[in-house]
Amino acid sequence: MSRIYLDHAATTTVRPEVLEAMLPLLGAGYNPSSIHAEGRAARAALDAARATVARILGAAPREIVFTGSGTEADVLAVVGAARARAERGRHVVTTAIEHHAVLHAVDLLEAEGWEVTRLPVDERGLVDPAAFAAALSPRTTLASVMLANNEIGVVQPVAELARVARAAGVLFHTDAVQAAGWLPLDVDALGVDLLSLSSHKFSGPKGVGVLYVRRGTPLAAQIVGGGQEHGLRSGTENLAGIAGCARALELAEAERAAAVARVAALRDCLERGILALIPDVLVNGAGAPRLPNNLSAAFADVPSDALLIRLDLEGIAASAGSACAAGSLEPSHVAAAIGLAPRYRLGVIRFSLGRTTTQAEVDDVLRRLPAVLEGIRAPATVT
Ligand code: PLP
Repeated sequence: MSRIYLDHAATTTVRPEVLEAMLPLLGAGYNPSSIHAEGRAARAALDAARATVARILGAAPREIVFTGSGTEADVLAVVGAARARAERGRHVVTTAIEHHAVLHAVDLLEAEGWEVTRLPVDERGLVDPAAFAAALSPRTTLASVMLANNEIGVVQPVAELARVARAAGVLFHTDAVQAAGWLPLDVDALGVDLLSLSSHKFSGPKGVGVLYVRRGTPLAAQIVGGGQEHGLRSGTENLAGIAGCARALELAEAERAAAVARVAALRDCLERGILALIPDVLVNGAGAPRLPNNLSAAFADVPSDALLIRLDLEGIAASAGSACAAGSLEPSHVAAAIGLAPRYRLGVIRFSLGRTTTQAEVDDVLRRLPAVLEGIRAPATVT
């Protein structure tokens, strides 16, 4: 039985074209900081990757910093910008549904005496722009609001929020890790000062992140050393990984329009099927703009871990909310923030589709799901 992978929001696998771009540099990748010919060739590969990423974001190469993960890009943005601008005031604004990379970065600042505003979201998962504007003060240094949520796929009105922040003199960071390949990432259209990406979410290798840093944005390095990446992220660059990241982003952007149309249709088919076949199920984020590949379904009276195990046995890989929250019996912070009723809170399953998902796979999931759920929902029989 071939398996059905519906966990593309957790990670994607490296596509062949990306591997092809990486292999020569894995085998014979030298140090881009070396002066000799080998080093200069490595520098040329690094520069080319940086130029590609910059072009896709509508940025200058100088504004691109490669990091070791999306997490690292988020932490550098939040902690680095806050610390570099602490004299303005020690207040940051974020939301209750950010990825833990941002949430724990603001926790760190809070432990250092910063004031943190964590804005709530409505039942659809959206931040209220008026509440965002009201949260900003002359002491606010930075605001960080994700472009698309990793659990429920809800897309925030980032361009509008960034405009408000800019008018108030507040730096604006967005975590666009889940958005790459699905939404436009033009940093000027978004109006953001800082934007994070993670290569492994768009068929690039793991262990490579990108932070866009608008020219003139104050940022304090969080990893110091040899001064690589414009002095903002020291450490010899992961050359093969960075080349793979750039190639993957290039392909994802070139294929974006077609992928969005195809995958949204598959997701809608899965969503309609689940709603028609399964009683007592909610779609998280319904009524809000959502990523085309995300379906977060809350099944009443079903523990998501049991459901995930049953799905796995059926050959279907999905996730409970987010990969990080999986395995814990606590409802995720996102499920709590959107105010899911208690019956539904522990039964959230995230199906995240991707480039390789097919109609046959969606049909197969819909064929098997009712029996899987019935087996879990039925009262246990003791023999
Ligand atoms: N931000 C979001 C929204 C994510 O979904 C993830 C990954 O799950 C990250 C940040 C962290 O990225 P990485 O896995 O590269 O550290």
